[in-house]
Amino acid sequence: MSINQSDYRSVIEELGNKIILVAVSKTNPVANIMELYDLGHRDFGENYVQELADKYAELPKDIRWHFIGHLQSNKVKYIAPFVELIQGVDSLKLLEEINKQGEKNARVISCLLQVHIALEETKFGLSEDELLTLITLINANQDKFKNVNVCGLMGMASFTDDVKKIRSEFKYLKSLFDKYSQLTTHNSQFTTHNSQPTTLSMGMSADYKIAIEEGSNMVRIGSLIFGERN
Ligand SMILES: *Cc1c(COP(=O)(O)O)cnc(C)c1O
Repeated sequence: MSINQSDYRSVIEELGNKIILVAVSKTNPVANIMELYDLGHRDFGENYVQELADKYAELPKDIRWHFIGHLQSNKVKYIAPFVELIQGVDSLKLLEEINKQGEKNARVISCLLQVHIALEETKFGLSEDELLTLITLINANQDKFKNVNVCGLMGMASFTDDVKKIRSEFKYLKSLFDKYSQLTTHNSQFTTHNSQPTTLSMGMSADYKIAIEEGSNMVRIGSLIFGERN
């Protein structure tokens, strides 16, 4: 097994230096990750805690690991010492646990809030109301959230061939990102973390081009680079 180096290079070229590529390495052996690492890539995404912890232990320590799956509160402790960005925060309870584990590890852990934008009911994430409530709560309780840096949003579009549908879901997420920015600008006392959102993580192998057109600045791409997963 080997990665698609030419696809990787063309994606990198396409993204330029303003859009971050998270190479989604789930189910891939460490040899494939090392192949990409040797090309200079450092941002990798995993969606199972155990798999991530195992790969972290085995691989170079300058890899930036993104957790992109559904995270259960009782498993935060396994990734808290090293994770770069937890992309799927979808509850206050989870955010509180990440903050607690951040404190234990003397770290500020960066997080994205996950929004449910797709048709499928199985996809996790906050509704618009839940999102705005949570942001307001974080803004009002900065002293409580010293060990998390909530810095943007993540979402997954519907699994469909309907490009219009996908585009409208990404547009919707971007509009929430803009609302989030406005909500937070008014609280200008926050100059350290949990302040202005910077990261809008949307787009996967099949839909990243649309996501970029709609304002994404972080894409999570797996199969296009690593080949189809079985
Ligand atoms: C698997 C996964 C991806 C990558 O999917 P591909 O279609 O292989 O690019 C991106 N984001 C999340 C949350 C995933 O679980």
